[in-house]
Amino acid sequence: MHAFHEWYDSYRNNCSCGRKHERLTTEEFLLGDGVLKKLCPFLKKKNFTRPLIVCDKNTKKAAGNSIILLLDQQEISYDLTVLSENDQGDVLAEETALVHTMVASNSDTDVLIAVGSGTIHDISRFVSYKMKLPFISVPTAPSVDGFNSKGAPIVLNKKKVTYQTQAPIALFGDINILKNSPQKMIAAGFADMLGKHTSMADWEYGKITAGEPYCGAAALMTREALQLAMDSAESLAEAEEKGIYNLMTALIYSGMAMALFGHSHPASGGEHHLSHYWEMIFLKEDQKQLLHGEKVGAACGIIADHYHQNKQQIISAAEDSKQGEIKEIFNQLPSGESIRNVLACAGGKSTAEELHLADHVVENGLKNAHLIRDRHTMLRTLNSTPNS
Ligand SMILES: [Zn+2]
Ligand SMILES: [Zn+2]
Repeated sequence: MHAFHEWYDSYRNNCSCGRKHERLTTEEFLLGDGVLKKLCPFLKKKNFTRPLIVCDKNTKKAAGNSIILLLDQQEISYDLTVLSENDQGDVLAEETALVHTMVASNSDTDVLIAVGSGTIHDISRFVSYKMKLPFISVPTAPSVDGFNSKGAPIVLNKKKVTYQTQAPIALFGDINILKNSPQKMIAAGFADMLGKHTSMADWEYGKITAGEPYCGAAALMTREALQLAMDSAESLAEAEEKGIYNLMTALIYSGMAMALFGHSHPASGGEHHLSHYWEMIFLKEDQKQLLHGEKVGAACGIIADHYHQNKQQIISAAEDSKQGEIKEIFNQLPSGESIRNVLACAGGKSTAEELHLADHVVENGLKNAHLIRDRHTMLRTLNSTPNS
């Protein structure tokens, strides 16, 4: 069994950044073949007697039905909510889903079980937190790095707002389930990891030029996670077990880096801001949503191109004494082309065209996405300094 806590603590105990680094609140990280069987023993150990299972029709098939069977065998009562899709065919973490989940609970509910990908987790994380209950994570696809994070992005009035809530008390990543997830969700998880190329570049840039808060340990953790994902690119296209295991490990590691740091800086830079911008447009126009990782992957290639093409402007905007360090960031930042190549190799869609994003949406995003977060990214600099 993978020693996730030991990995986290090895960084936590050896960081000299001076920030206070919390212990992990997630008690168990189980990743491997058949770990779902350990769910009921965990519920019993924790004296949970009435879980509420949160899923949609796809994730019910992928893992929900197996959980129901296990609970029945152990004679554990449960409640179930199968969230339905909106008119565009998406399950979103929006008002309807939040209310449905609350309505499905009752006064005996003592834990929520999130069975699904990122959205189901956001819904369960948010509702359980508001109900002062813990939740358990059962990912059905290695599609995003937020399973073990505290942030819950919620859509209210068609606008996305992220609330800091709680991490799961346990995560059961069953490889038998994860390896059967749709290929595009596996590629999306890989793409969310690829995004660390540009998020790390932006974070280091923000530290150097604007004194943004920084932690060397969280940076090393994220780099290690990124490398692990990169090394599994080829095996992911075939959904090989080893590749899925490594990708899921990388996603958990990335979530842990955010948990250690207490903010999303390590995992989210210009590429995530651009992706959020696109998402807001889709929400406003009632368009069918793309997967989080699909947007981040394409945005990462676009942002890398944008930064490299405007490298001189970015460097000369900084004080002379800092320009050497910024050049070093560029030495580490891959080209947009190499990002697209590795994403395509892992079976992902890598360009705006493949995602049917209109040119004006991409262009407007590059001009405005820096306004989404108050971060000193290179995108912000490019939009606030005159082109030399
Ligand atoms: Zn992400
Ligand atoms: Zn630190």
